[in-house]
Amino acid sequence: KVVCVTGAGGFIASWIVKLLLERGYTVRGTLRDPADPKKTEHLHALEGSAERLQLFKADLLDEGSFDAIVEGCDCVFHTASPFYNNPKDPQVELIDPAVKGTLNVLGSCKKAASVKRVILTSSMAAVVFTEKPLSPDVVVDETSYSIPELCEKAKEWYVLSKTLAEQAAWKFSKDNGIDLVTINPAVVIGPLLQPTLNTSAQIILYLINGSPVYLNYSFGWVNVKDVALAHVLAFETPSASGRYGMVDKVIHFSEVVKIIKDMYPSLPVPEKSQGRGSRAWELS
Ligand code: NDP
Repeated sequence: KVVCVTGAGGFIASWIVKLLLERGYTVRGTLRDPADPKKTEHLHALEGSAERLQLFKADLLDEGSFDAIVEGCDCVFHTASPFYNNPKDPQVELIDPAVKGTLNVLGSCKKAASVKRVILTSSMAAVVFTEKPLSPDVVVDETSYSIPELCEKAKEWYVLSKTLAEQAAWKFSKDNGIDLVTINPAVVIGPLLQPTLNTSAQIILYLINGSPVYLNYSFGWVNVKDVALAHVLAFETPSASGRYGMVDKVIHFSEVVKIIKDMYPSLPVPEKSQGRGSRAWELS
């Protein structure tokens, strides 16, 4: 089977590509710059890549740039979306690529008769940024979405971008008869295949980089290999549908620091906390 992975050189996407190649798929990966060795060398090193991995140039904001790539694919894994904090222009840097980019990719899927299902990498960020605390008695379900007005007020632009992108994806899919499944992970950590640090891996770096404090937050955490497997199973399992939240454990940073200290006693981890307490939107 032939499948497409957008943003193929990214942290999560690289693990999805690896797993797909191991399972015998032919993979079309999209990148903004397929000539950038930092984004591609690790993909070319994957088992099966010489025979079954093709890389294509496509930008989320370039209307129609995914058309020819998606045509002939059985499934599209749409992972590409900018993920960083403190943008200068949130609309241009985060929201437009997330929302318009998702609609651009889905528009290409709509035109391609071969595409049977689209798997969108959404986030718990699109679920939990509400006025409710993240206490054990608060239940989130398929109907739970982060509240855009709250995201704006708190200047949580990445959270807003993921929320608007997922909502736009569901609307477009329902309007156009696309079989969509979303994977909504919390903070994704685990081994990196790519040589550069993505935003979630930087969270751990921050804790071993001489910072005097750790944040007074609890995050949900999940392993990148589990997230990649969930994406692939969401395609391979005919009955898969809707939104799949992925949280292995919810852990306060004090516990993360303790785990690092136990595993690597020589690393300089911070001893004090700083910041607001644990609230819903502090899950990724
Ligand atoms: P990375 O930064 O490693 O990957 C993001 C990818 O998005 C990059 O490969 C980049 O591709 C692509 N991208 C960004 N902007 C554009 C654009 N304008 N046009 C085309 N491609 C673009 O991040 P992650 O692997 O961590 O994240 C992947 C997905 O998972 C994202 O959708 C993110 O929101 C989601 N997610 C991540 C979590 C985490 O903790 N890491 C948690 C929950 C969800 P290029 O190679 O072209 O630069």
